[in-house]
Formats: sequence, C-alpha cells, structure tokens
Amino acid sequence: MSTGLVSVAYVVASILFILSLGGLSHQESARRGNLYGVAGIIIAVGATLASVGDGGITAILIAVLLGAGIGIAIANKVEMTQMPQLVALLHSFVGAAAVFVGFSGYIEPLIATSGAEHTIKLVEVFVGIFIGAVTFTGSLVACGKLDGRIDSKALTLPGRHLMNLAAIIVCVFLGAWFLSTDSMALGIVALVVMTAIASVLGIHLIMAIGGADMPVVVSMLNSYSGWAAASIGFMLGNDLLIVTGALVGSSGAILSYIMCKAMNRSFISVILGGFGQTSSSSAAADADQTVHESSVDEVCEELRNAQSVIIVPGYGMAVAQAQNGVSEMTKILRDRGVNVRFGIHPVAGRLPGHMNVLLAEAHVPYDIVLEMDEINDDFPDTDVVLVIGANDTVNPAAAEDPGSPIAGMPVLEVWKAAQVVILKRGMATGYSGVENPLFFKDNARMLFGDAKDSIDKLVSGLRG
Ligand code: NDP
Repeated sequence: MSTGLVSVAYVVASILFILSLGGLSHQESARRGNLYGVAGIIIAVGATLASVGDGGITAILIAVLLGAGIGIAIANKVEMTQMPQLVALLHSFVGAAAVFVGFSGYIEPLIATSGAEHTIKLVEVFVGIFIGAVTFTGSLVACGKLDGRIDSKALTLPGRHLMNLAAIIVCVFLGAWFLSTDSMALGIVALVVMTAIASVLGIHLIMAIGGADMPVVVSMLNSYSGWAAASIGFMLGNDLLIVTGALVGSSGAILSYIMCKAMNRSFISVILGGFGQTSSSSAAADADQTVHESSVDEVCEELRNAQSVIIVPGYGMAVAQAQNGVSEMTKILRDRGVNVRFGIHPVAGRLPGHMNVLLAEAHVPYDIVLEMDEINDDFPDTDVVLVIGANDTVNPAAAEDPGSPIAGMPVLEVWKAAQVVILKRGMATGYSGVENPLFFKDNARMLFGDAKDSIDKLVSGLRG
C-alpha cells in the first residue's frame, strides 16, 4: 500500500476514533460510538499491516495471534466486577510497551538522525520511557488495590512529596546527562537508572492514594497510558499512534478533571499523587449505636404506601448481579403509580458509568436514571430510599465529619428522606474502609442479605 493511501486510512481511522468518543458520551449513542471505534481499529490495523514489508508481516501476525489468544482467554474468565483491575492491568501493558519501544528505539533507531533532529529523538526516547515506567508500575499497583491484593488505604510516608520531587529532579539531571553523552553504554546506564527511579515513583504515587480516590486514579492512569502511546508514536514516527494516544490522553485527563470536580478534589494534587487519605481520624462505629433491622414484609409495606421512591445502587448491586430484579421491581412500582427514580453517584461501583451500564443492560428507562446533582435536592421530599449495595457514596461522614478521609466528597444525601432502607449483607465498610454513620440513623433500616436475594423476595412480595 502506498504511503499516501496509508495516510488517508490513518486520517479516516482518527476521525472514527473522535466520533467514537463523541458517541460514548451518551447512553443512547454509546452503541454507535463503539461501532465507530471498532471500524476505526479495523482500518488502522489493516492499513498498518498493508504498509509493512513481507518480512515483518509474519512476526506481527504471530504476535497478534498470541496476544489475541491470551486476551480472549482472560476476557472469558473475568467477571464484570473485575473489569476495573483488568483495565488497570491493560494500562500497565501500554506503559511497558513504551519502555520497550524506547530502549529499542535508542539502541537500534529506525531512522538515522543528526543535529537538532537527533536531540529531539533522544528527548522523545527519554520522556517516553519515563511516562511508560510510571504508567507501568502505577497501573500494576492500581490493579492490586482494585483487586484487593494491596491494601486500599493510602500509604502516607513522611516527606513523601519531597521524595517525589527529588525523584523528578534526579530524572531531569539524568536526562541532561543522557542528552550530552555520545557513548551508547553511558546512555543506556542513564536510561536504566531513570527507568528504575520512574518505576518506584509510579509505585509511590499510587500507593499514596486512598480507596475513595481510586476512581480518579484509574482515569488518570488511562490518561497516562494515552500519553505513553503517543510517546511511542513519536519514537516510531507513527502519526496514527500520536493522534490516538493524544485522544486517549486528553479524554482521560478530561474525565479525571470531571471526577475531581465531582469529588471535590484538586486536579493538580491528583496528578502529583498528593491527595488521598490525608487524615486518619474517621468516625468509628460507636458500640452504643443501634442498628434497626427490617424485613422483606416491612419493606414491601413501605414501598406499597410510598408515592415517591429513589433507588441508589452501588458496587454491591454489581456484585450480586441484582440489576434485573431491580428493573422488575421498578416496573411493578411504576405500574402502581409510584414515582420511582434512580440516583447515580459519579463514582458508584468500580468503573465510571458502572451503574448506568448495568441499569441500561436491565432495560431501566434512561429518563428515570438521574445523576447525583440532578436528584440530591429531592431526597427531603422522598418517602422511601432503597440503597442497594452502596456505601461510600451515601456516607454522611463525607458531609458531616471534617476529620473523615472522605470529607468534602459530595455524596447522595439519602438520610434526608423520610425512610432509608439499606440492602447489604452485613456491616462491612465500603471500598474506602470508612465507617458509615448512615446505618445508625433513626430513619434507616437494614435489610441484610445478598442484594439479589433480597430484591427477588421484594419482587415476589410486591406481586403477592
Ligand atoms: P462501596 O464499595 O462503598 O460499598 C459496596 C457495599 O456493597 C459494601 O459495603 C458491601 O457491604 C456491599 N455488598 C457487597 N456485595 C454485596 C452483595 N452481594 N449484596 C449486597 N451488598 C453487597 O460501593 P459504592 O458504589 O457506594 O462506592 C464505590 C467505591 O468504590 C467508592 O469508594 C469509590 O471511590 C470506589 N471506586 C470507584 C471507582 C469508579 O470508577 N466508580 C473505581 C475505583 C474505586 P457488605 O459486604 O456488608 O454486603
């Protein structure tokens, strides 16, 4: 395929990726957005394969088949609730790729350069490896935290910001040395030392972030992986990779910014890994506080008598896979004239949009699924709130306890309703590990059990 045709194919693929991102921003157009993305990838991969000489095709096809085989095997095993850690793991692969491409591009450059062009190439290699190493280890730690293998609490070492700053300064000096040396051996030493420091920096940045702030970290690492891909594009002189990487990098950064605003966090401190659990004092459960337990019959009775109901789903609904029962219950209540709506916190579940996807899959009408800002003022006028497997996102400590690790994070103010029913298995904390005073409020009732079992019983009760 001629270079001109390849360039045209790359432009078409880039446009499809932009349309894909536009489509994914609304539930109604998400399917179309996905199709644009798939079409873009097919064109991009096809054009890339067509532009490679005969010698390279076999190696690429072997790598693609091997990678696809492993990918299919993993994807078949992964549960929906394990998607966040899989996404984090995939981000780490992009980081690792940037490191490998950087080293190979330095040791055996594809294109011979000289003068200023050579210096720019070296800067691309150095920066690309730095971003790649931070993304690689940071994403692995994020994967471990999301998977529960690493404690989700923030690791707050004394002087941690100074340590991060020192690491960055040392890397800048190594960069200057790398650019000034003519010896490849010394250049490799500089790159290896910088890679080691950047790897530790990636680990430290993400270890310092507390559980409740992990959503922003996931989207931030998504952004980093985009910049790592763009840096690979610069190193390989591949325009499509630069555009695609920049699209992922900037959309991830915009998502991180939106999430920071939604969670009342500073964007800059997120980028620097300087936020998270800054305080250790959280309202611990008071032994004297009473938990009011409810039963399926009582909750059915309350729902029958209610005129307005708000359902607040959380991670537990995803674990229990209760969304179809929830959809059925919603239909029964709506058929009886009850005003049923859903309140979705921006970080509910373990992925941006996690709850929206589950509810859409269960055919809950989009127009009754409202964002936190759209529904938060309506709780005082609501008869019953059903909290299904949500915890951190409805924790009043965020609003009422300035010493709490989640202080300042906007939450769904469910406790302002006349009655709150919380469906969960026990008294466990949410992902952030912070105790929830909601469970002890006078107007709160616990319906203990697996959310799917409880919802199925409620559906039978409401039908009977
Ligand atoms: P939480 O993680 O705060 O709480 C989930 C609750 O669900 C638990 O307390 C658990 O209690 C309950 N639960 C678990 N399994 C079941 C089940 N089978 N049936 C009933 N209940 C169950 O959920 P939220 O959605 O409120 O908050 C999300 C948290 O995850 C936030 O801290 C957020 O910052 C974080 N996060 C979000 C990401 C995102 O992008 N959305 C990404 C990474 C982290 P019990 O065991 O007692 O049943």
